[in-house]
Amino acid sequence: MEQKSFQNEEEGCLYLIPTPIGNLEDLTFRALRLLKEVHVVAAEDTRQTRKLFNHFEIATPLVSYHEHNKRTSGEKLIERMKSGEKVGLVTDAGTPGISDPGQDLVQLCVEESVPVIPLPGACAATTALIASGLSTDHFLFYGFLPRQKKDRQKALEELQNQPYTLIFYEAPHRLKETISAMASTFGSRPVALARELTKRYESFVRGAFADLHDWLRTHEVKGECCIIVEGNQAPIVEEEQPFWEEMSALDHIKFYIKKGMDKKDAIKMTAADRGLPKREVYNLYHQED
Ligand code: SAM
Repeated sequence: MEQKSFQNEEEGCLYLIPTPIGNLEDLTFRALRLLKEVHVVAAEDTRQTRKLFNHFEIATPLVSYHEHNKRTSGEKLIERMKSGEKVGLVTDAGTPGISDPGQDLVQLCVEESVPVIPLPGACAATTALIASGLSTDHFLFYGFLPRQKKDRQKALEELQNQPYTLIFYEAPHRLKETISAMASTFGSRPVALARELTKRYESFVRGAFADLHDWLRTHEVKGECCIIVEGNQAPIVEEEQPFWEEMSALDHIKFYIKKGMDKKDAIKMTAADRGLPKREVYNLYHQED
């Protein structure tokens, strides 16, 4: 269904409003105007958003919308939007919907044909990527790895062959363990750790996993961080099994006959596929008679 975002001023809608990931100057003019104009702002943590509102003198009513009330709160918000209200969605920091509960409300709006209007703005993933020194041509945003060791290892192995720059979010208290797990899976690839983006203590550690490992041994990591890893420059291409690998030679011939070939061609193709003499395959087929 087509959505025309700016054709009906009277219609209720959801604005996805990015907020700063540290530096308050990163709130855009448009975000500020809409935060003041909408009927209500749904926030992941109203206390956190209240600080932003106080700083910018925003008096719009706040309601909470987070992981644990997203169903009930989401339904109430949909009702309000359907009755013509404009709702702004903000999360604790950054772009709503990126590794936070925003996507559920968006899906609900799409199901209910409520327009969803996105605003561009601060996002830790792209901010970290552009200064990582790694390729920005193609990248894969992964977000948070699973917490369980086994699940994390499985996820890393699935990513091992990806040729694209990989972007991860991680909490500071899990960083050392995650970097060790990555080092054993990704080997000697270049990596960049971006910390406290846009804040006073913003820093980047760039190098190989071994360098990062050494750095982590002597530094206590505080603050939020992103890990950017070079994609696999020499992915191992697994050879595809030929379709007939599990068939007997006889079934292989029958397969081609079923596809519409005459017997002679089916025998010829089977012999060529298997690298066998035609006569041998011919005899095999006629042993059946
Ligand atoms: N929606 C947010 C966005 O657009 O970036 C991300 C929300 S996610 C719950 C929080 C994670 O983002 C943190 O654990 C960290 O990995 C990353 N992050 C957020 N702010 C950051 C900052 N200032 N510096 C580095 N990483 C940050």
